[in-house]
Amino acid sequence: MKIDLSQIDAEPLSINEVLVVAPEQVDTNQVVAPISVRLEGEVRPLGEGYAVSGRWVAEGPLTCSRCLEPVLWEVEERFSVEYRLPSTAPLDAELGLGKEDLDVVFLDGTELDLEELAAEQIVLALPIKIVCDQDCAGLCPRCGANRNREGACRCQPEIDPRWAALADLGGSEQSS
Ligand SMILES: [Zn+2]
Ligand SMILES: [Zn+2]
Repeated sequence: MKIDLSQIDAEPLSINEVLVVAPEQVDTNQVVAPISVRLEGEVRPLGEGYAVSGRWVAEGPLTCSRCLEPVLWEVEERFSVEYRLPSTAPLDAELGLGKEDLDVVFLDGTELDLEELAAEQIVLALPIKIVCDQDCAGLCPRCGANRNREGACRCQPEIDPRWAALADLGGSEQSS
């Protein structure tokens, strides 16, 4: 859903939308299935731009960082972003953006894409890692089998080569 910011006058515009964010919209391998986002808030004129603020709740599967199985992720956050139209963009973006402008987004046109806003908010809120279970055993480093499953594989645990060398030394000492 898109909102034409140039149509907004002094009255704030209410938003109450359910949006579906596709994995392609969030550039992370944690998200492999669509995430549904309910976005509530308002858009109002602010200085040279528009302030968009409110809250969002989202629910969807993320990928377990150890075994790659889906884990349900539920999140609720508040947000506040300021949008400016291209005509107000500073000529030199790097010099023009001060610290206080960190949450300012310059649009290419006059339209605000709420799905893009939701996707950006999801990226900001994603956990660094999520696990299906604190005891998740992960994937076998040799064959890739999910070790949470009974009898996943028969691979021998990998031995660190440095320890293997020590074991050899210990063996030769004993035999001499
Ligand atoms: Zn897992
Ligand atoms: Zn294995």
